[in-house]
Amino acid sequence: MTSEMRSDVLIIGAGQAALECAASLRKNGYEGTITLIGEEVHPPYQRPPLSKAYLLGEMDAARLELRGRDFYTNGAITLLTGRQAVAIDRTAKTVKDDQGTVYHYGDLVLATGARVRKLPVPGADLAGVFYLRTLTDIDLIGPSLAQAQNVAVIGAGFIGLEFAAVARKQGKNVTIIEAADRVMGRAVTEDISRYFEGLHRKHGSTVLTGTGVSGLVGQNDKLQGVTLANGEVIATDLALVGIGVIANCELAVEAGLDCGNGIVVDEHGLTSDPHIYAAGDCVLYHHPFAGEPVRLESVQNAIDQAKSVAAAISGTPQPYHAVPWFWSDQFDIKLQIAGLSTGTDTHVVRGNVDEDKFSIFHFRNGDLRAVDSINSAGDHMVARRLLASGKPITPEQAGDPNLVLKTLLV
Ligand SMILES: Cc1cc2nc3c(=O)[nH]c(=O)nc-3n(C[C@H](O)[C@H](O)[C@H](O)COP(=O)(O)OP(=O)(O)OC[C@H]3O[C@@H](n4cnc5c(N)ncnc54)[C@H](O)[C@@H]3O)c2cc1C
Repeated sequence: MTSEMRSDVLIIGAGQAALECAASLRKNGYEGTITLIGEEVHPPYQRPPLSKAYLLGEMDAARLELRGRDFYTNGAITLLTGRQAVAIDRTAKTVKDDQGTVYHYGDLVLATGARVRKLPVPGADLAGVFYLRTLTDIDLIGPSLAQAQNVAVIGAGFIGLEFAAVARKQGKNVTIIEAADRVMGRAVTEDISRYFEGLHRKHGSTVLTGTGVSGLVGQNDKLQGVTLANGEVIATDLALVGIGVIANCELAVEAGLDCGNGIVVDEHGLTSDPHIYAAGDCVLYHHPFAGEPVRLESVQNAIDQAKSVAAAISGTPQPYHAVPWFWSDQFDIKLQIAGLSTGTDTHVVRGNVDEDKFSIFHFRNGDLRAVDSINSAGDHMVARRLLASGKPITPEQAGDPNLVLKTLLV
């Protein structure tokens, strides 16, 4: 049966960016109707703890929720979960969902995030092979992890390494397998990659870099091993695949919006349609900080971009220029990244690497572009402010232990 409804702002997706957009609209005094449609059954929740405190059993599901149920009632925000938007009609300004409901919108926001990239090898569908993106994923992994003894992590990005750290903390034999020649290679410079490889080895995990996976083997549909590209088989009860994500931009592509490996938007989150915005992991944006189109996958990006979208819809535009930042927790190490280190040429260490408390300042042509901090929250906060303000810092100053960094901010 087809039903129809109208919403001044319709947000597709009910994750970090969607929630922030709705909250910011109300904060800005926006009085129109707001509806969120999310395909997951859960109300908007935070993903970062899924591979950290939640997986460790140190956080319960209720605490994952980004806002309590009152938030939606009090803010007059209609939240519809368990529904997938399946088509956009830009001429009629409508969206259809998988239950046949047609939504008429004034402005549409695409906050569809990303989905995991599947491992394209034989055996990848055996029981015991997992991916990690959603609360449903982690609730499936938990009981299997408890039973497993030999765990393989395929792909050493942030999620793979965070998962590996938790598995190792739980006493599992952990093998990390990365096809590239270093871990977290897309996000950090080589010195930080090597530091984290050492960290995982120090805790007893095996770290294999430059090692591809050619297949997964098992019996009776149950995983028993990972076959490496050189033919060696590693005995495995559970494999966690973390080889990146793909932006959910099919709806936008089918609607004829400009898309690359994400939905193309301007500094207000506006797509090539004047009534359709996008924010978060699904977006490709020419970020002034990167100097080129980038698709960032972080809470900061989802929140700050969603705020810009809400500002534009509320009639008080605020372009999205914020400095990118990110964090990761592995064992007792907190990595905090400010800026983007791609293309940097000079790397200066500040602090003490042996004491696991230091930062690396990355410069390009003498300009600070990024700072990776290990258990050094103070450096991270100053770095964000330096990067945002453009106040100068030289490599010599960054490496000077007698200089109090904060003095550079005045
Ligand atoms: C395990 C894990 C750990 C992470 N750790 C960190 C961290 O430490 N720090 C950090 O900064 N970031 C971290 N991230 C990344 C961060 O969570 C994401 O960048 C952020 O969630 C992006 O928000 P989003 O709203 O763009 O997308 P999402 O949070 O993915 O939300 C998009 C939602 O839209 C839904 N959707 C998609 N298509 C449709 C459709 N057609 N109809 C209806 N609904 C749809 C999706 O199902 C999803 O629920 C982590 C991510 C994961 C998975």
